[in-house]
Amino acid sequence: MNSFDNRRLPRRKLRIVVFIFMGIVLVYTALVIFYPKKLGSPTADQQDSTSLIMSPESKPEPTIQTPAEMPLPTPITVTDYSLPPIENGMVPVISSIATDQKVVFLGIDDGAFKDQSVIDMMEKNHIKASLFLSKSCISSNPGFFSSLIAQGSIVENHTLSHNTKMVKEQTYDQQKSDICGMSDYIYEQYGYRPTLFRPPGGGYSDIMRQAAADCGMKAIVTWIAKVNGGSMQYQIGDKLRPGDIVLMHFRPEFKQDMQAFIDAMIAAGLQTELLEDLL
Ligand SMILES: [Zn+2]
Repeated sequence: MNSFDNRRLPRRKLRIVVFIFMGIVLVYTALVIFYPKKLGSPTADQQDSTSLIMSPESKPEPTIQTPAEMPLPTPITVTDYSLPPIENGMVPVISSIATDQKVVFLGIDDGAFKDQSVIDMMEKNHIKASLFLSKSCISSNPGFFSSLIAQGSIVENHTLSHNTKMVKEQTYDQQKSDICGMSDYIYEQYGYRPTLFRPPGGGYSDIMRQAAADCGMKAIVTWIAKVNGGSMQYQIGDKLRPGDIVLMHFRPEFKQDMQAFIDAMIAAGLQTELLEDLL
């Protein structure tokens, strides 16, 4: 009896183990078939969705914010502004225009940064601007600005020398020659004479207003808001207002500056208009 038991017992144990194992396999298989999503393995559908989650190549695309673009501006049909006349031989000075129309004016200064991306971005966004250029900044490649003129921008006067202390350091005659000389240069390069003057640094005096008038200028144009380092800076309030004149520069950060200006215009429901079209 003992010897029988000793032989049979391992077989019986083995059989029980096999039964339990098969039972587990059966239960598991049944569960996989009826509840495939709750268990890890493996229908074809599930393999797809698993690979979607696991595979690094198929991670969901990050949301890329495309920069806002300016729509085509609506041409101004009503002129509700008139420029003050030259009085006592002095041009008026303007930093904004009193208008109810949904427009702002952009002046881009100096002309040091000349890159095709500037031309492309202004074209794409339908931006026309008054370009206050100085010979000292553009003489290496004045032809660059012909492309912007072809888009509708207008080159205006920002002196030959770009001496930001001219209002303090230069006599009437020196100022006149710095301003008139730049008008001559613009005529030589682009075939027309400018009518607006922006002093380097923005400072002006009665003597400068006379010198500008005597060089054929209609106004000194300063600004009330500016774009700098990729963000807007306002002298009044915290957004663009109709009639604001905005200062910007041809600098390496042109793209960021222009985008900040475009975003501010869109936020305020405004569009660019050429100052020269209203004056
Ligand atoms: Zn300047």
